[in-house]
Amino acid sequence: MGVLHDLELAAGEGWIGEVPAGGGLRITDLHGNQAVDTLFYNAHDPEEHYSALDTIRAQKNIYLTTGTEIRSNLGVTMLTIVDDTCGRHDTLGGACSAESNTVRYAFEKRYMHACRDNFLLALARHDRGLSKRDLPSNINFFMNVPVTNDGALNFADGISAAGRYVQLRAQMDVLVLISNCPQLNNPCNAYNPTPIQILIWAGN
Ligand SMILES: [Zn+2]
Repeated sequence: MGVLHDLELAAGEGWIGEVPAGGGLRITDLHGNQAVDTLFYNAHDPEEHYSALDTIRAQKNIYLTTGTEIRSNLGVTMLTIVDDTCGRHDTLGGACSAESNTVRYAFEKRYMHACRDNFLLALARHDRGLSKRDLPSNINFFMNVPVTNDGALNFADGISAAGRYVQLRAQMDVLVLISNCPQLNNPCNAYNPTPIQILIWAGN
């Protein structure tokens, strides 16, 4: 196993990197109940990216776990979840932003750091011309957003715990964009953002 990246990403930080086809990505929730907002792009054509709609439709389920094929907006499998010790990951809650913080919580929350800021900052540093038009709806690894019987979204307490991880195998060269959520206003991360580990390795 040729390790390409092994890093601890502090609470509230963003990161972008590549996973080669046949390689692996493991994200570990080091302290539990963290929300890890994540997007995937085709590394050679970033107009192809993770699609919540195509992924949900393909597996006929809104939650992601072992066996999930992460589909692109072209309906292609980008990665497969091959191991998951948490058991449920969110496709519907989206990323927190300055705007959503004002709507959900209070106007003075506008200036708090948010996942959308992390995404935009990481894209700008990556310097491949990607910008806010390239931000589709994202995955929230380790985040618990159950849907009620009448279809409402319920941002609930996390079901993850310290050391739980999700592991994916890349089916194409993918660019992974991560915001380790800085949110202090909802229970998705127990009001206490904590670091995660990102491990990426090359295939055989
Ligand atoms: Zn967030």
